[in-house]
Amino acid sequence: MIGLFGGTFDPIHNGHLHGALTAAGVLRCQVRMVLSARPPHRPPPVASVDHRWTMLKMACAAHPELLPDGREMHRPGGSYTVDTVEAMRSQWPGETLCWIIGTDAFNDIDTWCSWRRLLDLAHLLLLPRPGVVVVGSALEIHERRRRVGLTEAPAGGIQLLDEAMLPVSASGVRQRLATGSDVTDLLPACVNAYIMRHELYARRPLEA
Ligand code: ATP
Repeated sequence: MIGLFGGTFDPIHNGHLHGALTAAGVLRCQVRMVLSARPPHRPPPVASVDHRWTMLKMACAAHPELLPDGREMHRPGGSYTVDTVEAMRSQWPGETLCWIIGTDAFNDIDTWCSWRRLLDLAHLLLLPRPGVVVVGSALEIHERRRRVGLTEAPAGGIQLLDEAMLPVSASGVRQRLATGSDVTDLLPACVNAYIMRHELYARRPLEA
């Protein structure tokens, strides 16, 4: 089994790390932290891809279970998950792949490019973001696939984790940084220091 945790990581925070480490424990495998270089369905990230990649590598360095994966940086165009998983499927033909995703992101799954193909290639492990329940067509998709065991079938299963996730979001971290609020409990210390050094999300004075 190989766990895959994708994100814009703008910046990577303790919620991501806690979710990925919990998944690594449940799946009993390493988790590749896949940087979404150019997310196609959301506004462009605030920090550059190079800064986000550096922060991701720094955060993963303390955790042998987590491996930073920068392959989407080297692919032109939008960073579509299905293309990434397709490439991994060819790279590791004998491995079971499991894409790890928060319930907020899963609720939009049917808007993802070729999501059915994605489920032919990998399982999904859902992380329950605080206050975000699975609804609508995502709930129907989950209902249809939740009985497929992640260790029994090669792909196509969807499992919702029981473990509570941390109430941390990158947008919340950016907001706090922009207003000068303390973020020490929300980020690894090395990432916090990097953000301060490069003034990444600080509010800039309005130009005259
Ligand atoms: P933003 O607030 O800007 O939307 P985010 O904190 O949700 O950012 P992303 O990089 O967009 O971070 O998310 C990448 C993945 O991490 C998504 O699957 C998301 O659901 C998951 N995730 C984000 N925060 C948490 C958290 N606190 N616990 C578990 N999973 C999380």
